[in-house]
Amino acid sequence: MAYDENNIFARILRGEIPCKKVYEDDFALAFHDINPQAPVHVLVIPKGPYVSMADFTAHAPEELVVGFMRAVGKTADELGLVEPGYRTLANAGEHAHQEVPHLHIHIFGGKPLGPMLIKGWEGTI
Ligand code: 5GP
Repeated sequence: MAYDENNIFARILRGEIPCKKVYEDDFALAFHDINPQAPVHVLVIPKGPYVSMADFTAHAPEELVVGFMRAVGKTADELGLVEPGYRTLANAGEHAHQEVPHLHIHIFGGKPLGPMLIKGWEGTI
């Protein structure tokens, strides 16, 4: 999929749309999700035009890949989630219901998060 320069996260990166910032460095921006699904729900996005994890890891410079992953860890740390625990998740494509076509890692925390996926898929694939 070609990168859409006008997707909502590209516009947040350009400062055209506001966000509740949690962390920022040269490689990444982290901000609160507008529709939180846990007491803490933060999105971390790389500063570059990448649709998905596959696109990012295939095409981004190494410095950005490393810097982005470090930013995810730093964000979780700054949110105070390391000791109680947290979950990271990156949706990609249709089966994962990716809504915004700019790579983003969700960080969920602030309560026990339950099982990783809803049960009941067995036999449906
Ligand atoms: P996806 O389904 O693509 O993995 O997740 C996209 C996430 O972006 C959703 O959790 C949604 O609530 C969040 N989101 C969509 N638009 C905005 C926005 O304008 N600002 C913020 N902060 N989050 C957004």
